[in-house]
Amino acid sequence: MTATAPEVARRPGKIVCVGRNYLEHARELGNDVPERPLIFLKPPSALLAPGAAIELPPDSSRVEYEGEIGIVVGARLRHADETEARAAIRGVVALNDVTARDLQKSDGQWTRAKGFDTFCPVGPESPPPGDLDGLTVVTRVNGQERQRGAAREMAFSIPTILAYVSRVMTLEPGDIVATGTPAGVGPLAPGDEVEVEIVGVSLVRNPVVAAAAR
Ligand code: MG
Repeated sequence: MTATAPEVARRPGKIVCVGRNYLEHARELGNDVPERPLIFLKPPSALLAPGAAIELPPDSSRVEYEGEIGIVVGARLRHADETEARAAIRGVVALNDVTARDLQKSDGQWTRAKGFDTFCPVGPESPPPGDLDGLTVVTRVNGQERQRGAAREMAFSIPTILAYVSRVMTLEPGDIVATGTPAGVGPLAPGDEVEVEIVGVSLVRNPVVAAAAR
């Protein structure tokens, strides 16, 4: 993505993600749901607009989609409780937490696996619905459904996650929190088209290409 000045102005200060927040997904990768939210960061430089290409880096032989419900923070949150966290939600976005699965395993921590440029497609922002638990995320590859999960199935609810994160780092307006992916993750290949939809709320669709050698 070539960032213009307005895009830079809208860029979030940080993207905080939650791992293993759906039991079936944790199990498919051989993990349990953790006792508390497992959080990590994606760099804002990974952001990708709808329609722009996800680039598969030569460093990885296994890049996978992870469709997620993304939350856009609208007010500063520090040591918030769940009621304050719920009130601070400004918007909901479809988000693809693209992951180099092989590097996630080999590196022992996730910065490289989660942090390549183009690894964070994000759809248009919509206001949050009254019932967050009713949010449903669906991922399709080449038109075929691969993942479907509802917020009510999460191990840790959206307000619980925001409150938890806010005890570690101050959440600021524009920050994005990715709330974990349901079961059904799988690989992407050049020529694929992957889309993540928050049903009735936001959709991000991107082609997949091999990164040009540089
Ligand atoms: Mg994820």
